[in-house]
Amino acid sequence: MEHTLEGGCTCGETRYQILKKPMFVHCCHCHLCQQQTGSAFIVHAMIESENIKINSDNLTVHDMPAGSGQRHVVKRCKTCGTGMVSHYGPKDNLSIVKVGTLDDPNALQPLAHIFTNEKLNWVNLPKDVPSFEKFYEFEKAWPAGGYQRLLDVRKKN
Ligand SMILES: [Zn+2]
Ligand SMILES: [Zn+2]
Repeated sequence: MEHTLEGGCTCGETRYQILKKPMFVHCCHCHLCQQQTGSAFIVHAMIESENIKINSDNLTVHDMPAGSGQRHVVKRCKTCGTGMVSHYGPKDNLSIVKVGTLDDPNALQPLAHIFTNEKLNWVNLPKDVPSFEKFYEFEKAWPAGGYQRLLDVRKKN
């Protein structure tokens, strides 16, 4: 990626920069994501936390349920409440960026659709993008380079 991607919250106080191409991007259609966004689905981009620069002093951290039962926190702008980044699991090494908060949300398009068993009836999925009734196996669904980065990030403390 030649240029960094930038995004931020609706009030403009919290801004972030993504310094490297994300490992993977997927679109989740599960009901929890529908509830947490109030929308039909969410688009999530996975990136090493060291490769996203965000003004952490300006964030509040919210515990949210995850379908897996694991810890899931969402970091929101403390002024306007826009959620921009999630962490799943015990560590914060991996950041899940909410693609709708990019200045150009078209910049990252989903490489997979997941939890399509909970997808809203009126949402028609593209035929050229893999879709999964529930979750996928990382090793099979992700390109090799992205999967290796995921393994590396899981090793870090
Ligand atoms: Zn804000
Ligand atoms: Zn979901």
